[in-house]
Amino acid sequence: MNLPVEQKRTFLERIYLVEIVKGLAITLRHALHNLFKQDFETFEYPDVRKEMPERYKGAHRLTTRPDGRVKCVACMCCAQVCPAKCITIEAGELDDDPIEKYPVEFQIDMLRCIYCGFCVEACPKDAIRMDTGIYEINAFTRQDMIHDKAYMTDLMAGKKPLAESFYRAHQDAAPPGYDLEEDRVLPVDEPRGL
Ligand code: SF4
Ligand code: SF4
Repeated sequence: MNLPVEQKRTFLERIYLVEIVKGLAITLRHALHNLFKQDFETFEYPDVRKEMPERYKGAHRLTTRPDGRVKCVACMCCAQVCPAKCITIEAGELDDDPIEKYPVEFQIDMLRCIYCGFCVEACPKDAIRMDTGIYEINAFTRQDMIHDKAYMTDLMAGKKPLAESFYRAHQDAAPPGYDLEEDRVLPVDEPRGL
């Protein structure tokens, strides 16, 4: 096995002073650039959401069959391969099929997930994906950070991102412009109730 070779540092690098000055110079260069050029891209989030790249690993979703059942057959491959051990599956028997199983419950503890995507890679049924583009994975309680089968299947049906539905549950914390019916923050010039 090849062990990593220790990096040799020069005397100037070992006393750090020159490196600190170099670091400060880079920070100052970026600060002045941003101050005078102002060519950085910003988004008026949450009114405008950033479109994530196609391969961005966002919130997990469970894919479904044409009849609405989840594709997952509760084989446990994803749970086995998950390095964070954050997937919990309760398998159930199907009445009309003595071989295939289905997940009675399927939960991912998003506080432990490291977004490695191994679960997606390991799945033999293309039953779990991270292609939702949803990056607002947050909650007011630890319990709400456990995404269950119903939530991950709803994402397939195009339900609202998690961050917006928080405001429905915690209306006191909702930002200005939040519309309860729409369950989202409406742009200032958009008429309400349509
Ligand atoms: S992305 Fe990685 S850590 Fe998260 S549930 Fe899948 S396998 Fe586990
Ligand atoms: S999501 Fe895929 S890998 Fe995980 S239990 Fe279901 S079928 Fe198996």
